[in-house]
Amino acid sequence: VIQICLPLNALGFVYREAKDALVNAEKLFQLLREKPEIHDPPGMPALQVTHGEVAFENINFAYEPERPILHNVSFRIPPGGRVAIVGGSGSGKSTLARLLLRFYDVGSGSVKVDGQDVRAVSAKSLREAIGVVPQETLLFNDTIAYNIGYGREGATMEQIIAASKAAHIHDLIDSLPQKYETPVGERGVKLSGGEKQRIALARAILKNPPLLIFDEATSALDTASEQAIQQELDTLAENRTTLVIAHRLSTVVDATEIIVLDRGRVVERGTHARLLQQAGMYARLWQLQQRAEDSEKMEKEMLA
Ligand code: ATP
Repeated sequence: VIQICLPLNALGFVYREAKDALVNAEKLFQLLREKPEIHDPPGMPALQVTHGEVAFENINFAYEPERPILHNVSFRIPPGGRVAIVGGSGSGKSTLARLLLRFYDVGSGSVKVDGQDVRAVSAKSLREAIGVVPQETLLFNDTIAYNIGYGREGATMEQIIAASKAAHIHDLIDSLPQKYETPVGERGVKLSGGEKQRIALARAILKNPPLLIFDEATSALDTASEQAIQQELDTLAENRTTLVIAHRLSTVVDATEIIVLDRGRVVERGTHARLLQQAGMYARLWQLQQRAEDSEKMEKEMLA
């Protein structure tokens, strides 16, 4: 895995630390659950997801006024489609996800879901419609059942088990002495990166949202378990509008559209085939990664 990622690293696709912004986003989810009124003024209408179309329209955005991050970014994810965002570290990929979740408001332009500006609907209803599978899964210091069930308020044990089965984590949970009541998190049972990701997957399956954000993992898993999880993520994404923050070009091949960001600007866009034809930045990244994967394969064969 390290070998695959090294050339990407060199290009700035740097591994994210555990303090991932989307993990913080998840913490915020918990906060919102306890105090939704903090973010939602009374009387905000709930988001009505009809088709599941997401549109970023002429987005300009800065965290700090003197440092613009996104410049006139526009793209649309058609209902059930998948758009992959590719770009170097700091190019603004995660920022787009945060704007869709409305953790920040755009400077100008708008983010819309089925024609509704995210600022014109309650944040609670918006976030209920979006499932997030983060790169690093944050587990609460609580039971496994709580950690999965938190995907959906009022979930029954049967629903939690069904989601765990779909995420292929049920057998492991069932083998633990306290099963679903096993404490996890910092003070509980230690789970591997892949197991934690499956908990996040079960959480998202249980939530059953019309919209999804995948912040793709760059590390932590071996290739075999990564491919297995990728398949399950693909199943989850079927017929759901999906925004992928892509770190592995091999998973963007089937995207409806790939958006290549460079320092907050869209520099290329199109399908995989079209971008390869263009022989630009995306094509160069692709070739580099292909080479890295080939050399990893060769190395494995030599070691076998
Ligand atoms: P990576 O692949 O490394 O995760 P990214 O493309 O997802 O990068 P973003 O997380 O969107 O990049 O960050 C874009 C820019 O915004 C970076 O320069 C980053 O330092 C800056 N930034 C991110 N979050 C904040 C924040 N809360 N306050 C100020 N600046 C921020």
